[in-house]
Amino acid sequence: MSDQPLLPHNVPPPAPRRGLILTTILVPVLLIAGIIFVAVKGEGVPKDDLGLAKYYLKSSPVIDGHIDLPEIPRMFYKNNVSAFDLNKKTVGHLDVPRIREGHLGGFFWSIYVDCHDGEYGDDFLNPTTEVRDTLEQIDVANNMIERYSDTFAHARTADEVEAAIKQGKVASLFGLEGGHSLGNSLAVLRTYYQLGIRYLTLTHSCNNAFADSAGVFGSVKEKWGGLSPLGKELIYELNRLGILVDISHVSDKTALQALSLTRAPVILSHSAARHFNENLQRNVPDTVLAKIGRGKHQVDGVIMVNFFPVFASPNPSEVDVAYIADEIEYIAKKTSKHHVGIGSDYDGIESTPKGLEDVSKYPNLWAELIRRGWTQNELSGLAGANFLRVLRGVESVSAKLKKDGKGPSYAIYDKRRDLDPVKPPY
Ligand SMILES: [Zn+2]
Repeated sequence: MSDQPLLPHNVPPPAPRRGLILTTILVPVLLIAGIIFVAVKGEGVPKDDLGLAKYYLKSSPVIDGHIDLPEIPRMFYKNNVSAFDLNKKTVGHLDVPRIREGHLGGFFWSIYVDCHDGEYGDDFLNPTTEVRDTLEQIDVANNMIERYSDTFAHARTADEVEAAIKQGKVASLFGLEGGHSLGNSLAVLRTYYQLGIRYLTLTHSCNNAFADSAGVFGSVKEKWGGLSPLGKELIYELNRLGILVDISHVSDKTALQALSLTRAPVILSHSAARHFNENLQRNVPDTVLAKIGRGKHQVDGVIMVNFFPVFASPNPSEVDVAYIADEIEYIAKKTSKHHVGIGSDYDGIESTPKGLEDVSKYPNLWAELIRRGWTQNELSGLAGANFLRVLRGVESVSAKLKKDGKGPSYAIYDKRRDLDPVKPPY
């Protein structure tokens, strides 16, 4: 973190979709870009690639789309966040010193609990503890942010992200990983929104009542052929609330249907490119990348690239900084440099690329991309400005839908019987 942190340079958004007024998005973005972007040139600029990487990152720190920090207390400390010290080296991929060393300016704390394929019953009606466990993980995140309030600041909006970075704090957003955490209920989603959830990964590695998953190491048998009827309502409700639709982890059909339905930009919070590892359905295919962009029939979005070598390559031992840079450049070639970001999956993966072993190593990736000719502006986009543009787009769509009087969806999962109206005599 620099002494006087600056904020990521922003980039113009794509043409709005479905009649949204251009000025609602473009004007604030350009104003912010004009106000906050300060080019770093001239004296004191390091000449070596790694020095320059750190210099750029000081003004535009990384906002990572997916870090599983709340899982560490759950796995190792029975969720007691006082049982380990984030100021010292942890068992995971981040702690306060490494966050500062790597110029991590913000991240989505993954609110994640395991899904269990085959344990839900054919209609996903078997009782589970997942809503309780999800609330526990939100509690863990809140407790950690409070315990380390000199380092972290909870952020719910793009403005709050920028304000946190300005104060030298790590902007802490909550992302919910998997529709299985919703207990089949849009009411639960709305309540999670109130608790700070700002993205929903439609599925984890299991199908759920809303959508089909891509599975992880083997594909799962499709249940809905993409989104279920309730899943289509879910997209509407996410757009209305202002929660990012995250299409990491989902089946191709789910992703394409979500893209055709959403009125707001989307993210892939932590996805590798299938081009590099075709066997893994969890990786984003070119057909989905083709739908992300500024053109006709495209949706604005950001693909935040996953670092897990096992996803990145059929030969994980070959994955290093240059390989991850290749993936970023491939995705940028298929979309543009305005649509790439970082979604490392740190603390949720068992191995890491050579040279990207933990959050202290982001500068190595920046140095590699500088060697390949990436400009400061382009790297600011990769770091976080692309993501902030997308988040602002989601916020604008939500505001417009609410202004237009769009109310909550009261759709319920049609397999549920517990809400059947009571018949007289009662
Ligand atoms: Zn994941």
